[in-house]
Amino acid sequence: MSGKIIDGKEIAQTVRTQLREEVGKLSSNGIVPGLAVILVGDNQASKTYVSNKQKACAEIGIHSVLVECPATLSQQELLAKIDELNHDDTVHGILVQLPLPAHIQEKDVIEAISPEKDVDGFHPINIGRMMTGQDAFLPCTPYGVMVMLEHIGCEIAGKHVVVVGRSNIVGKPSGQLFLNKSATVTYCHSKTKDLAYHTKQADILVVAVGKRDTITAAHVKEGAVVIDVGMNRNEEGKLCGDVSFNEVREVASYITPVPKGVGPMTIAMLLKNTVKSAKKTIALQDA
Ligand code: NDP
Repeated sequence: MSGKIIDGKEIAQTVRTQLREEVGKLSSNGIVPGLAVILVGDNQASKTYVSNKQKACAEIGIHSVLVECPATLSQQELLAKIDELNHDDTVHGILVQLPLPAHIQEKDVIEAISPEKDVDGFHPINIGRMMTGQDAFLPCTPYGVMVMLEHIGCEIAGKHVVVVGRSNIVGKPSGQLFLNKSATVTYCHSKTKDLAYHTKQADILVVAVGKRDTITAAHVKEGAVVIDVGMNRNEEGKLCGDVSFNEVREVASYITPVPKGVGPMTIAMLLKNTVKSAKKTIALQDA
């Protein structure tokens, strides 16, 4: 068996095309969706992520504002900027690029963003809404994984989903979204004993660890759907995931590549959340 490749780049492009139309309609109603991105310091990887997000916004007509701040910015000053953006009607989404310098508490910053503009879906209010099945901004990467699976017509109810990784931004919310769709969910992490025993039971295996070759063919059940969230560099400096792609593809029914897998979906979902937020302002005006 050679598993089918889930083309995240293509699915993301389909999502963006739909969003471009929606942005066009919103703009003709006088609402241009706006995303503010705050970048603190000059971490090169963060700069690249931010620039990719801005390009993606421009491509579909979202107005994006970059707020660049020096690494010496105090936490108080950052919170004041967020407060300003919370009250700016032209801004529908606020994203603070992580990681932040060590003197700034990530938790305080995330909690300062209005939950109604939290398009990253990291605010505890949005996490709580997601957990209780309410309408929420879903964290972009897990949301992107769900949209990918929907796109290939993958049934989720009743499936055994194994998530490797339990971070607040990827692992935990991924498992929760699958649970919301009636899957049976197992979480694995660095303290899990006999990882392969668990992963071999997965109908759908989601891997978000950050170490290449964490998952080999020996970890995967024949016919499983394998979603590789990891982003690592191999010894040649090339981008690779957490899954040994070539050998796992021989066992899986579907597999995401790295690059062109989950990565492009994450950005597409950020755009989707921003458009969703802008649409809500129309609903508020109509109310
Ligand atoms: P974290 O470092 O926050 O979490 C990694 C998780 O993996 C932890 O829960 C850790 O367990 C677990 N883990 C570590 N080693 C093992 C192991 N040997 N076996 C099982 N579990 C293990 O990472 P993130 O969740 O933020 O990101 C994970 C990966 O996804 C990274 O490569 C990141 O770059 C990538 N990523 C990709 C995105 C995309 O758009 N494609 C977006 C976000 C992230 P423990 O909790 O016990 O420490």
